Formats: sequence, structure tokens, C-alpha cells
Amino acid sequence: MSFEFSDNLRKMKSSEIRSLLKYVTMPGMISFGGGLPNPETFPSAELKEIMDDVIENYASQALQYGQTDGLQLLKNEIRKFLDRDENIKTDTDNIMVTTGSQQSLYALSKIFANPGDYVITEAPTYVGMISSLNANLVNSVSVKMDSNGMIIEELEKQLEYLKSIGKKPKFIYTIPTFQNPAGYTMTLDRRKQLLEIAYENNIPVIEDNPYGDLRYSGTKIPTLKSLDDHDIVTYLGTFSKVMSPGLRTGYTVSQPEVLSRYNILKQALDLASDSLSQYIAYEYLNRGIIYKQIPKTIELYKKKRDIMLESLDEHVKDAVWSKPDGGMFLWLKLNHNIDTSKMLERALKNKVAYITGSAFYQNNPEINTMRLNFTYSSDSDIVEGVRRLAKTIEEEVKN
Ligand code: PMP
Repeated sequence: MSFEFSDNLRKMKSSEIRSLLKYVTMPGMISFGGGLPNPETFPSAELKEIMDDVIENYASQALQYGQTDGLQLLKNEIRKFLDRDENIKTDTDNIMVTTGSQQSLYALSKIFANPGDYVITEAPTYVGMISSLNANLVNSVSVKMDSNGMIIEELEKQLEYLKSIGKKPKFIYTIPTFQNPAGYTMTLDRRKQLLEIAYENNIPVIEDNPYGDLRYSGTKIPTLKSLDDHDIVTYLGTFSKVMSPGLRTGYTVSQPEVLSRYNILKQALDLASDSLSQYIAYEYLNRGIIYKQIPKTIELYKKKRDIMLESLDEHVKDAVWSKPDGGMFLWLKLNHNIDTSKMLERALKNKVAYITGSAFYQNNPEINTMRLNFTYSSDSDIVEGVRRLAKTIEEEVKN
């Protein structure tokens, strides 16, 4: 039997990142590839206690289907968390609980854009957004960044370009804080300029902020959402990096006009997010455990970031890299025009893995780049892995 499949997945390929995950478990391999939080940050003991209590106290609701927009108790805790942490003042009617932020990237691509439409992303951008755009047959033009985030003149250039081909972007997608994959953070000035451009041109902004709580240096910069006085920003948060990604619980803050459409779409996607995870997240917030967990995670990751930066300084020549103030990644660019996807074979032989930069572009990749994760490996593996990477680069340059 041969099947006739739809055109929908025509542009999609399995993410290189997911395919690379298998190397994480190969004996002796040091992988900077995955985007995995370190399991040491999972609050297992606290969650065990919470899970027991949830089953004891809320079994009939926590094991039942829930409301599509999410558990009201949790939404109220999210509202308080956002106010306290990000100075985002919102109401539970403006919050949707999601099955991770990933669900929102897919949903918002579908809600705002028709197949063939254009959106604006950063170059490079989060691979899960590229997958979501591809799945919805949506095109992107991307805006170059420097260490201060999206370059506003480049954004204006891309808007002009789209105008010249008779297109208006359906949204601007940005990860302004500790960007994945680049590790850059957009300055306050640029955030304000970005919002002004969005207001002037009436373009919705999607602010994806999974890493904002994980700051290791520098001073906090307000989120776009907290600066937005025109209600143009849709804000994506998640508990994946501050509780557990396995619980698949995130939240999206937007206008009811957007969320009512999301609600209809979500009924087709999963009816509602996992009730049990939502009760667990509710207690995690309500008991204030999140406020103890975040500083512990910061302490662990700050050390790992510092070790990676020091090791790179010590061993790696012929490259430049970002110096992130937070998050989980840094971005390395080789001075030579070496294709890092070709170099990967040599790297794997040397037992070190990374993600090639081209995975993070929908079009026109910079082939001499790579993303390095510094949160997952042990401290000694970071040192050794960077040494292996330096050796790989040296060998490649010589060849
Ligand atoms: N956006 C970005 C920028 C991410 O890095 C991630 C996680 N890797 C996500 C969204 C998805 O997170 P979640 O686990 O909440 O689906």
C-alpha cells in the first residue's frame, strides 16, 4: 500500500537538534548540542510532596479534563508571578495556560498568518519557531542581530523590502532576553524602538521569554510586554526552565481577541493542557517554591557559563563568541568560512557535539556558526568538551 500524503509537511524536516539528541547518550561523548536544562535543577523532592498532596486533595479535578484556557487557580498564581517578577500587570482573562510555549508558537503562527504570508524573525532564531512556521506554510524574513539584539535599522530595511513586494508582516517574533540560540539580550533602547515601529505599522509582536528568570550578570531589562501600552505584545512564558520541561506547562498573555481564537484552535490541538501538571504548577507557585528554586538554578548555571567562557578564552582560536548574561546558550562564529555542519563529523570523532548554526535560519544561514549549550554538561566535561572543540577547529582550519 502506498499512501498519498498532504502537502502540509512539505517544508518540514526533523529538527537537527532532535536528531542530535541521540549523541548525548553515546559513551564518552560530550554534547553541547541539546537545549536541556540540567536535571540537578529539577525540584524532585518538593514535586514529590506536591504530587502526593495534589492527588490527596484534588484527585477528582486533577485527573479529569480541564478547561481549555487553563486552571483558574494556576492562572491567578501566574498573574501574581508576572506582576512580581516582570512587572507585567495583567488579568486572568488575558492568560492562557499552554502545553509549553511550543504550543503557542504553532498556534500563533496559525492564528495570525495564512499560508504564504510573511512574518519577521531574528537571524538566527529558535528552531521550534522555524518548525511551526514551516508546518503552517508561513514564510519569514529575518533581521540581523548584534550583541544588543535585533538591529533596528535592519528591521526597518526588512519592512521596506516586504512593502516593496506588497506584503505586510503578520507579526514580529523576538526572544529579546538571553536569546536562543545567540545568547544576546536586546537593550532597553531597542525594545522601545521596536515597539514604536510595531505601533506605527500595526504589527503584532510575539515576545518569547523562556529564559528571562535566569540572569547571571548585568541588570534586568524590562520585558517588551511590561513596556507595551498599546496591547500589541503577546507574551510567552514557560515553567520548563524554572520547574521542569517534562510537565509541559507554559502560559501566554495576550488580548482576549487573540486568546478566544487560540481557545478554538486549542480545542483541536489537545482540548486542554494536562490537568495534573497544572495543579502541580499551581502548588509550586502557591507555596513559593519557585522563588527558592530560581536562585539555585542561577547559581548552578552561572558557574557553568563562567567555566565555558573561561575555557573558550583559554583554548579556542580563530573564532568569536557571545558572552550571554543569562539563559542556556552561547553562539560561536568561526573566523574562517568553515561550514560547521561539515565540521561536525570531525567533532563527533573527537567526541564533542554542538548544533550547527544553519539549523536556526529558515533561509540564508550563516554556515560558520554553532550553538553551544552550557547548562547540561558537568563542569569538568565543559572544560574537556571545549578543549576537544578547540582541537576540532584547529584541525579543520589546517585542512
Ligand atoms: N521558545 C524558546 C526560545 C525556547 O528555547 C523553548 C525551549 N527550548 C521554547 C520556546 C519551548 O519551550 P516549552 O518547553 O515551554 O515548550
